[in-house]
Amino acid sequence: MRVHSALRRVESENVAARLPGRDPRLASQAVLITAHWDHKGIGPIVHGDSIYNGAEDNASGVAAILGAAKAMTQLPRPARSILFVATTAEESGLLGGEAYVQHPLIPLAQTAAVLNLDVTNVRGATRDIGALGMDRSTLGSVFVAVARAESLKVESQPDVRGSFFRSDHFPFARSGVPALSIKPGLDFVGRPKGWGEQQENLYNQERYHQPSDEYQRAFRYDGMAQQVRVTVRTARAIANDPAMPRWLTASEFQRPQP
Ligand SMILES: [Zn+2]
Repeated sequence: MRVHSALRRVESENVAARLPGRDPRLASQAVLITAHWDHKGIGPIVHGDSIYNGAEDNASGVAAILGAAKAMTQLPRPARSILFVATTAEESGLLGGEAYVQHPLIPLAQTAAVLNLDVTNVRGATRDIGALGMDRSTLGSVFVAVARAESLKVESQPDVRGSFFRSDHFPFARSGVPALSIKPGLDFVGRPKGWGEQQENLYNQERYHQPSDEYQRAFRYDGMAQQVRVTVRTARAIANDPAMPRWLTASEFQRPQP
């Protein structure tokens, strides 16, 4: 077998904003909310189109963290700081997330948790919501309680195709920071059973990483609002809890010993 590869040096930025915590003892610690802002740029032409817009993957996630940031500036400030990080070059191999972990704005030992949003719900309100990593840390029970408070069921989503290892929360998890990736629900209000799975399969087959992942008039944002509410409430619950979240003993990830 022969493999050709090329290295290209480019510069790109992670974009971060900090909402300072209210508690003088905890404000130096942070909860991170992340979403990658990059997509695949210009690539091979498919059906006459070479622009890979990435509307769902991940303009939708960036819109969600902007919405979360706006909401959190209007709520009482939590004890710990909240750091919103739009990461770059996720599609090139989680490079922005990896760079952040190597040069964190807040030491990783002081980073309570990471909540990641990669492809959010643009298909309408749901009765459920999910997260990757729920079974790995104490963030899982916080997330389940928040979902319940929002009247949403939680289906534990299996790590399909190694999905827990394939977005920006992963470099953080590997460095020991408990992490969740909050996913759209699948049980859509006003749609027949199985519709959510069917739409997700269609997305994966017809639009995922293709020029056709672009804005559609059919997009609806009530489900994204649910997902943002759950993200904000989860972040606030973690930021206000005097105890740091921790990995479960069964998890393959652990915080490094100080
Ligand atoms: Zn993505």
